[in-house]
Amino acid sequence: MYVGRFAPSPTGLLHIGSLLTAVASYLDARSRHGRWLVRMEDLDPPREMPGASTAILSTLEAFALHWDGEVVYQSKRHHLYAAALAQLRAHELVYPCYCSRKTVQAEAQGMGVDGVIYSGRCASLGADTHLCTNKTPAWRLRVGAELICFQDAIQGWQQQYLAGDVGDFVLLRADGFWAYQLAVVVDDAAQGVNHVVRGQDLLVSTPRQIYLQQLLGLPQLNYAHLPLLTNTLGQKWSKQTQAPALDLRKREALLRQVLVYLGLPQAPQVDSMADLLGWAVQHWQLGRVSRQAIVTV
Ligand code: GLU
Repeated sequence: MYVGRFAPSPTGLLHIGSLLTAVASYLDARSRHGRWLVRMEDLDPPREMPGASTAILSTLEAFALHWDGEVVYQSKRHHLYAAALAQLRAHELVYPCYCSRKTVQAEAQGMGVDGVIYSGRCASLGADTHLCTNKTPAWRLRVGAELICFQDAIQGWQQQYLAGDVGDFVLLRADGFWAYQLAVVVDDAAQGVNHVVRGQDLLVSTPRQIYLQQLLGLPQLNYAHLPLLTNTLGQKWSKQTQAPALDLRKREALLRQVLVYLGLPQAPQVDSMADLLGWAVQHWQLGRVSRQAIVTV
């Protein structure tokens, strides 16, 4: 059975870009008679906005985006991430890293696809080194020379050399926070998710997630990365670019706009948001979603 999900981070309220992701993942799941889950990715409290989780859930309800089962909160699942890290440690696939952010920047092996590439300074440290110091390390995953390839249902064929494009990456930060890459892989597998529909900004992360799935013996998922929605300056809508929160009084117009961005034909007049979504489920075709960024007005 198809299992999809929407996994917002409660760092702010939903905006047009996150609504696009919610709607597309919902339509793809429902049009294939699948389940659609919601997972709150609340792993980084300093970046979170008080009340955002509740506001996100009530916004989804206002758009008639009803999820299956209970909402899962990553903040309550640290034991699962710790078990995955222990599994990787047992195979010496991770090492403790004591480098400060400054050292990482200063000694970087150049710029990768998602920030600087780590020099490997701590790569030869044994997994027990942290027992001999009173410092808390970060834990990095050792990547090899492998090329990770996959077919994205919207963006097409993708490939990435983890060593040359990303480098050894952090799974647990020295401040005790779990990295998104590990948590997302563990949770998608634990929740039985098999289809991921999300924003194109995460395309660059997918090879790291596929690599973790391979190392942890988890199934590889089907991925579809949506086009980015940008403002007229070509910037992705986000908190940093001051994306306006959704005005729920205009929810029908907003949903209609999102459906057009997703390549659906003009929707007929309907009596309710649920009817509009129901119509969209009937007419949804993933193959009609554009690869190109969409400039919103
Ligand atoms: N929590 C992530 C975000 O809001 C999305 C994670 C995902 O869909 O894999 O950007």
